[in-house]
Amino acid sequence: MTAEERAVLKEKIVAGIEETKKDIEKLKELTKPIKPENSLGRISRMDAINNKSVNEAALRMAKSKLAKMEHAITKIDDPKFGNCTVCKRAINPKRLMLMPESNMCVRCAARR
Ligand SMILES: [Zn+2]
Repeated sequence: MTAEERAVLKEKIVAGIEETKKDIEKLKELTKPIKPENSLGRISRMDAINNKSVNEAALRMAKSKLAKMEHAITKIDDPKFGNCTVCKRAINPKRLMLMPESNMCVRCAARR
């Protein structure tokens, strides 16, 4: 990874962290317990429960993504940053741009 790529990636991760934090806030709102006295009809209530579990899954994913990005930002100045944790080869910078939280190359990730 070139110094320039590293700088771009750093900015991307910082922006990604901000974005993900906002998503988490929104998802937390959406996953608040549904009150039983809710005046929604039975069908709407079932919808609300379905949406809630979808949002809960999204919230879990967002939290794990945030943790990975926060970890990535502490490592980005490390010369080993951007190397696959499995095969130790450099991860394609394009992959890192798309998914800054990735710590495996495409090949190793596909094998998991
Ligand atoms: Zn690998």
